[in-house]
Amino acid sequence: MKEEKADVVVIGAGLTGLTIAYLLRDHDVNLKILEAKNRVGGRIFTKLSNNNTTIDLGATWIQKPHTHLLNLLAELNVEIFQQKIGSSAIYEPNTFSKGQYVNLPPNNEPSYRVKGGTISILNTLLKYTAPSTLFFNQKVKSIERHGSKLQVTTATSSFATNKVISTLPPYLFANSINLSPTLPENVNDVLQSTHTWMGESIKAGLVYDNPFWKTENFTGTIFSNIGPVIEFYDHSNFEESTFALKGFIKDELASLTKESRLEMILNQLRKYYGDQVNTYLSYEEMVWRADNTTTLPYKNFVLPHQNNGHPIFQEPYFDNQLLLAGTETAASFGGYMEGAIRSAEFVTEHILKYLQLV
Ligand SMILES: Cc1cc2nc3c(=O)[nH]c(=O)nc-3n(C[C@H](O)[C@H](O)[C@H](O)COP(=O)(O)OP(=O)(O)OC[C@H]3O[C@@H](n4cnc5c(N)ncnc54)[C@H](O)[C@@H]3O)c2cc1C
Repeated sequence: MKEEKADVVVIGAGLTGLTIAYLLRDHDVNLKILEAKNRVGGRIFTKLSNNNTTIDLGATWIQKPHTHLLNLLAELNVEIFQQKIGSSAIYEPNTFSKGQYVNLPPNNEPSYRVKGGTISILNTLLKYTAPSTLFFNQKVKSIERHGSKLQVTTATSSFATNKVISTLPPYLFANSINLSPTLPENVNDVLQSTHTWMGESIKAGLVYDNPFWKTENFTGTIFSNIGPVIEFYDHSNFEESTFALKGFIKDELASLTKESRLEMILNQLRKYYGDQVNTYLSYEEMVWRADNTTTLPYKNFVLPHQNNGHPIFQEPYFDNQLLLAGTETAASFGGYMEGAIRSAEFVTEHILKYLQLV
């Protein structure tokens, strides 16, 4: 077992984890970030597909109220562009009616995408993170108190530290990491009923060399109450040099095979676009429910956003040595990328005070 030392251990190299590292970049803090996967980003996952087409299979859209995220993107020179939705869409209201073409009202709440895909945010944050800080394939199994230190253990390494910041979705934290001592019962109860945003979702995208879905009024927008596709949008890049359709398909299809989901999607799209849909260059998808470093099956019924931003997340534990961070813990915008940034800002302030660096 490899033994390491750190002032602060951050668990998870998603948007929260790498933003904490970025905010601490000018401070003398021995920081180690432990990541279970072999990549950064967590729920931000941009797949590089055929023809260098980027498909965002996790977080994609940013809106104007996401001010902390937008400020960070401006500071990092990461550019965004407006999501096209067109003035008309395909709408499938129910199983009894045929799909319809409907006019869309003016969009007062436009959404924005990141140029180069959402992963560009993480790739830019990485430029400010010393490679020696990041440890991949290090799934944390336990956090134990030994004297005045916390011991964070993975399958191959052990890290002695003064402070641990978890950025895991709280439900995952409570059900995948052994703690000694344990958290107070009321805190554990909240963790056990905190929703992991988008943990149940399936995102799917089709890459084409010809954007046949774009006409004068249509940009490929589909809203369907039937599915398999329930929400689809144009996912061509900013430069309009790569073309794709991408969106959400029904969560219930998680138990099918990838081939079956693809066939169902093509059948649905064929109703509107004919056999052109068969000319796809690649099909990409991510079934988030199957990713046990994002979510695990709930023990009890949990509503979307339940307990996101709960006051227990604003408190430190283990005598100030353990903080629960990550988007679901943010006092506002919990679940969204905006929440991840706010959470990173909140815990960074705490770390700096604790280490008496401010
Ligand atoms: C399909 C989908 C669509 C979304 N769409 C949007 C959107 O359009 N707009 C928006 O604002 N947000 C969206 N989100 C939410 C957004 O992705 C999250 O708010 C944000 O990425 C959360 O970042 P985080 O760092 O807090 O958590 P995470 O990204 O979950 O990061 C946690 C990290 O911890 C790692 N980890 C887990 N267990 C361990 C362990 N035991 N040891 C070490 N590491 C571990 C994980 O691998 C992961 O890298 C979407 C999410 C999904 C899944």
